[in-house]
Amino acid sequence: MLETVFDFPAPFIKKSTKSVVEIILLDKKEAKTYTNDQLDPVRRQIEQADFSGKAGQFTVIRDEDGLVQSVLIGYDESLNHYTLSPVYAYLSSNFGAAFLGDVVFKMNEDNLDQSQINKLCIGWALGDYKYDTSITRAKNAKKTKPMLVWPKDVHADFVTAQISAMCLLRNLVNTPANMLGTDELCDAAKEVAKPFKAKVKVIKDDDLVKKNFPMIYEVGKASPRRPQLIDMTWGKKTDPKVTIVGKGIIYDTGGLNIKTGTGMRQMKKDMGGAAHALGLAHMIMALKLPIQLRVLIPAAENAIAGNAYRPGDIIMSRKGLTVEVDDTDAEGRLVLADTLTYACEDEPDLLVDFATLTGAARVAIGYDIPAFFSNRDHFLDELRHSSVEASDFIWPFPLWDGYDQNVDGTVSDIVSVGRGRAGHIEAALFLQRFIESKTDWIHLDCYAWEQNGKAGRPQGGADTGMLALFSMIEKRYNA
Ligand SMILES: [Zn+2]
Repeated sequence: MLETVFDFPAPFIKKSTKSVVEIILLDKKEAKTYTNDQLDPVRRQIEQADFSGKAGQFTVIRDEDGLVQSVLIGYDESLNHYTLSPVYAYLSSNFGAAFLGDVVFKMNEDNLDQSQINKLCIGWALGDYKYDTSITRAKNAKKTKPMLVWPKDVHADFVTAQISAMCLLRNLVNTPANMLGTDELCDAAKEVAKPFKAKVKVIKDDDLVKKNFPMIYEVGKASPRRPQLIDMTWGKKTDPKVTIVGKGIIYDTGGLNIKTGTGMRQMKKDMGGAAHALGLAHMIMALKLPIQLRVLIPAAENAIAGNAYRPGDIIMSRKGLTVEVDDTDAEGRLVLADTLTYACEDEPDLLVDFATLTGAARVAIGYDIPAFFSNRDHFLDELRHSSVEASDFIWPFPLWDGYDQNVDGTVSDIVSVGRGRAGHIEAALFLQRFIESKTDWIHLDCYAWEQNGKAGRPQGGADTGMLALFSMIEKRYNA
């Protein structure tokens, strides 16, 4: 069932003897000069198309024989890794094999720097992204693709790593829960590890109880797809240790506090945090960042059966804090809590967790912007700046002391749902109870899903915060 999870678009070619169609990026100023320099037949086409170099504009230019000669694309400083996706989508849906099979596209690099060239290549490939499975393949039969010659100044390893990480994440989230259970998520982690010889250990089912991960076991115990903790390690022992945790609820019914039909519809995406962790791990390993990487994924299904955990149950956590369950749909923080405790025991230099955790974060800032929290103030600015550079916008929220008592218990040490209104902050404060104060920690409450869909980013699984984190980690450890 996993065979299509590792399918990534690669509409690139090293070199070619086919005829070339030039891709030319022009901002408003460059468009004016370019237009004036053209002979009448081309100048007229530019004028008739009203092409002015405005970002988002593009037009196809033909020679006097009517053959496609170039594609002009407008841009400005907002150029990002989706800029070329609509162009790719247009070419692949408006031209057939007779044209696309006969030509290659080549980027004019004159006015572009390497970071821009990288982003343009990523957008070109993302335009080709489509989720598919082994049983839907016939329906989605491949057509001839537009191919781009690798630009001279591209950082091809970076581009390939970013495309692979983004599409791996999407494929994992898009794979329905009947095809991706806890074992398959574990297989996916092993596949990610394999090319880089990373080690993967798994603590599964009853061993979670024996080895003291009671909350992961409690959440996952009602499903025949048994709960497990996936533990991947890679890198030199002498390098700084970065641990990435990802929530891996392969399906969330809500448990006995069952969700509504609408609320449950997209819950295959509740392992989106795990998909972010694996995508980020892929980028870190493929680009050989000098860190000692650890990825921890608590994988479980929040299912309903006679032995399911209940509202009101009191559970002992790995850390020794007792937790009273308010609502079985707040399962993510329970599996994360034991995992974060375990991560802190290993004293990482930096601990990051990704989780599709609260509806409250979405109410506060919508689908596209992940909320992030840190117990170190300097990360708030650092990560926000990295997120802008990576064209992957995220926004900080406070671990405010004033709300901390909202997760205090009466019969237990803590309760699983806070008593106030800011659910995303209280979920983060709940998690903070399991973090050692000496550990530098960043928590992302993300959606992992593109709600509306656009060229290069179809509706479905989507990265929300992964690129921002990569950019920050790269700057911090690879300077
Ligand atoms: Zn839930």
